[in-house]
Amino acid sequence: VSADTVPAGAVRERYGELVDQVQKYRAAYYNDDAPLASDAEFDLLYSELEKLEALHPELVTGDSPTQQVGGDVSVAFAAVDHLARMYSLEDVFSLEELEAWLVRAAGSVEKQGGKAPQWLTELKIDGLAVNLLYRDGVLVRAATRGDGTTGEDVTHNVATIKDIPQRLHGENFPSEVEIRGEVFIGAKDFVALNEAMVAAGKAPYANPRNTAAGSLRQKDAAETAKRPLSMFVHGIGAREGLSTATQSETYELLKSWGMPISPYYKVVDTLPEVMDFIAHYGEHRHDLIHEIDGIVVKVDDLETQRALGHTSRVPRWSVAYKYPPEEVHTKLLDIQVQV
Ligand code: NAD
Repeated sequence: VSADTVPAGAVRERYGELVDQVQKYRAAYYNDDAPLASDAEFDLLYSELEKLEALHPELVTGDSPTQQVGGDVSVAFAAVDHLARMYSLEDVFSLEELEAWLVRAAGSVEKQGGKAPQWLTELKIDGLAVNLLYRDGVLVRAATRGDGTTGEDVTHNVATIKDIPQRLHGENFPSEVEIRGEVFIGAKDFVALNEAMVAAGKAPYANPRNTAAGSLRQKDAAETAKRPLSMFVHGIGAREGLSTATQSETYELLKSWGMPISPYYKVVDTLPEVMDFIAHYGEHRHDLIHEIDGIVVKVDDLETQRALGHTSRVPRWSVAYKYPPEEVHTKLLDIQVQV
């Protein structure tokens, strides 16, 4: 699309179509846990929307999907406000785009007088974002991300997940801390769950991500308890009295409190090391505990994260690299063939 060759009416029409389509797909994915399109199809539409907005900034309004964190609050749950906002992640789809992003971010850090950032590389877990609120070491509330400001109260459901401590281990906790992470169904658990479904004469679940989301967002916590949900935490929201200097140091502290931390993260200094991490997990993505839909790279230093800040939708200190889409997962296919 070029800004000057396409008539304004046609641009506006295509823009309207894209917004409607993205909103429809988002509602099915986040609210109903039942996607109408593949992630690759969704990402393609979303990218087209972003490109059109870049060419025609006059079309962008505050309620454009590119300005918002996707997801609503279902009437089945009480709505709760997060103490600190939850964000999405900026996506890049090629190594060239990733490199450009990292060089740009390092440049902004330098301009602000900082030294070359260390990068925290980790896996992008294909699950459901959940915010855990601990007061004086006790889990008092758990909520889904929702629209980033308001989520769904899933405290009772989260209480059935054995990875998540109801009470932090040790002593000297912050008086208040929001711990964020991803709830997911592990690869082996998903295969076992589907084998059990097939053995009971029922249709198997389509994929671990939506099954995890649907399992957590059950009205009856007893139903959630039957599903093999796991969690890895990867972030902090509001905090009172927590004084770590880096994201990786924070992970180690969270681990000492008994929080489930991913075994796969690594802090690196250089761009080639980031690329090695991506190549390694691109090759081994089916040997992991859980499914991934990419790699997340974060500036490790928390002071630098604060200095870089956020847009209305994403942090400026983190980026998600998405692997190219794959064919249908063979393990799932095997089960479908048996049905
Ligand atoms: P996102 O899922 O791409 O990224 C943001 C989320 O990543 C965060 O909320 C966080 O919880 C999660 N995450 C996982 N691992 C993380 C880690 N290590 N560190 C930090 N965060 C981590 O963004 P989004 O806006 O929630 O959703 C977009 C994604 O959902 C895309 O992958 C898109 O394809 C998919 N989607 C698909 C459809 C569809 O119809 N198939 C519709 C909407 C969205």
